[in-house]
Order: sequence, then C-alpha cells, then structure tokens
Amino acid sequence: MNQKTESEKVINNIKLALGLISNKNKVNLHEPDFSNSNAKKYLNSCIDSGWVSSAGDWVNKFENKISEITGSKYAVAVSNGTVALRLSLHCAGVNRTDEVLLPPMSFIATANAVAHLGANPHFIDIEADSLGMCPIALEKRLSDIAIIKDGNVINKETGNFIKAVLPVHVFGLAPKINEIKSICNTWNLPIIEDAAEALGSYITFKNNLIHAGCIGDIGTISFNGNKIITTGGGGVIITNDKKTADLARHLSTTAKINHPYEFFHDQIGWNDRLPNLNAALGVSQLELLENILEKKHKLHKVYKNIFKSSDNFEIISQPKNTKSNYWLITLRLKFDNPLKIRNEILINANMNGILLRPSWNLISDLPMYLDCQKGDLKVAVDQSNRLINLPSSPKLLKN
Ligand SMILES: *Cc1c(COP(=O)(O)O)cnc(C)c1O
Repeated sequence: MNQKTESEKVINNIKLALGLISNKNKVNLHEPDFSNSNAKKYLNSCIDSGWVSSAGDWVNKFENKISEITGSKYAVAVSNGTVALRLSLHCAGVNRTDEVLLPPMSFIATANAVAHLGANPHFIDIEADSLGMCPIALEKRLSDIAIIKDGNVINKETGNFIKAVLPVHVFGLAPKINEIKSICNTWNLPIIEDAAEALGSYITFKNNLIHAGCIGDIGTISFNGNKIITTGGGGVIITNDKKTADLARHLSTTAKINHPYEFFHDQIGWNDRLPNLNAALGVSQLELLENILEKKHKLHKVYKNIFKSSDNFEIISQPKNTKSNYWLITLRLKFDNPLKIRNEILINANMNGILLRPSWNLISDLPMYLDCQKGDLKVAVDQSNRLINLPSSPKLLKN
C-alpha cells in the first residue's frame, strides 16, 4: 500500500467536498460567521446604553434564549466554558483532594477545571462509537476501586472521595449518557456534562429528545470563538435544579447579597459573570443557530458521501438515538497502524492550506496529569491515533 497515495486521496476528497479549485485561501477548521446577523446592531445598543459589563439586559436575554433552546429550566451565563465547569463542579460539592471521573480524550479544560478546585482528575476509558466515556469502563472502574462508606464514595487506593462524574460530548457527539446515568444513580454520584462543544446536540431519553447537558445534574456549554456559536468568549451552566442555579449565580457575582448600597458578601465568590457585550453578540449568534445546524448536517452528508466507498476511512456519524450538531466533522482511519498515515495526511494537508487537526493528545499523557488515577485506557489510546478533524465551518458548504 502506498501511503502517499492514501494521503493524496484524502486531500483530494476534502477538496472535492468543499469545491476547492485553487487554494489561494487557507481553509480553517472552524470559523465564526457574523454575516447576515444582528451582531453590530446589538453591540451598538450596548455601547449606546453604556451597559457593556457584567450587568445588563442582554445577559438575561441570552440566558432566556439558552433555556428556550435547551429546555433547561435555568441558565447561568459565565465568562467561559472552563469557568462554567469549575463553578458547576464546586456547586456539586467537589473540594480539594476529591476525585472526579472523566474521559482522557477531551480538551484540556475538562481536567483543568477539576484541578483549579484542588481536586484530582481520575481517567475512565471511552468507547469508539461516540468517542465519549464508556459506561462499561465506568462501571468496572467503580467496582474495582470504589466503596461506599457513610454515604460517600471512596477510592480504596487513595482514600479520597469520588465526588462527581464528568462525561464529555466530544465534537458534538453525545456519549451514552443514559447508561452513565443509571450507573451514577447506583453510586449516588452527580453528573456534570461537559457539553462545551454540543449546543444543538440531542439525546433520546425516555422517548424524548433531550438537549445535551440536560440529562445529568448540571451541564456546561462554551461559546469560545471556535465553537458552534460564539460570544467572543463565554459559557453557560444549565440545570433544572433551582438551588444549583441560585448558588452558581450567587458565586459568579462575588457572592454579594442584594442591597441598594451595602457591600456584603457571604462567601468567597468569583467574578465569573458574562459581560453584557458578549451576551449581546451571543443573542445575535443564537438567532443563526437553526441555520448553522442545518448547514452542518448538509456538510456532514457531503463528506460522508465522498468517503463512503473507502475501506480505510470513515466519516463518524451521530450515534443511534442521538442528534449531533456536527461541530467538528471527524474522519476515522481504519488502518491497523494508523499513526504514520495520519501524520502524513496532517502534514500534506497543512502544506496545502487545509488546516486539518488531529484529536487532542490524551490528557492523561500530559505532564501535569501523568500521576492521576486511571482505569485501562486502551480504547482512548487507540482512537486518539486514528482521528482527524475536517474543516467544518458552515460557510464551507457549497450548494
Ligand atoms: C472549549 C471546551 C471547553 C472550555 O471552554 P472555554 O470556553 O474555551 O473555556 C471545555 N471542554 C471542552 C470539551 C471544550 O471543547
């Protein structure tokens, strides 16, 4: 088998899918789009009114729109997705030295949010279908190392409390959250769903289509510049639990007690609130979401058709009983030893101005997290070598 030919085939297929004739402009992985939107109008209204910072109507409007789209009772807008995760974990009772179970294949922020609280990531393997946390691996790891004592889940090996489970919706694909939930119910562990990449993704739960982040106890979404919609920088906590929402809101605004003039703070809070400017941009972006999702599904179909006759490559599709937002469309290499070919494709494509990206290095392999507790991570190790994310901006769709 000629590797050069394989990588040329992939690049030709991408060019074909995107209708690229000459390559004058670089093709990025994912770009925000503000054309045909109310972005400037809404931003100007902030500036004209003087309300640009973390109080103002647009923050409420943004939160209401998020509630409407996700079906979550409460939405608390914060300054980014990492902060949303850290605040959610804190609200779920995660403290210093506690352990949080999470997959190793995610953006670094998932583990960092745990570490920012002085807690410890504890890695659980993924499954290939959804690229998300594997319920079987979760169940096995818990039964191998955990005991329940006085109502607490304790890691026998470290003596630390296991306080929460943190599954991730990777590239917009939903993990097997129903199965994860039933395991967490058995162990009485809260679920925080990292749905940073998954605005517009859904899972069937008890015959209803439920938005990502709404089956667990708390969900978080990011609105960073490269996500499906952006607020410039921003995040949101979604939950159906009023107590959690109230606490998150209170702690995100320096834990200040409402009063006409007194400064009284009853806890150590954070300054985590989303500024009005960012929320205004966010509202203008949310108005485009339906259209973006439609284009994403069309682009996925185009890629899927172009790669469908290939034995060695596969475009990953939404798992059964889920609807993906296809934030990033992913090519899976099916070779026995994919790493060399993967790297060749990455080098060739980037030289051609098509900025393909591999999936992340596993968090469990990064220097800060090498000593963390972990189960057997063989699926994550294998999958991380065979994934390439394709240019997925909605505006790349050629009609
Ligand atoms: C982007 C992302 C985050 C962090 O969001 P920021 O807004 O960049 O802080 C967390 N988890 C995952 C899986 C992400 O992709």
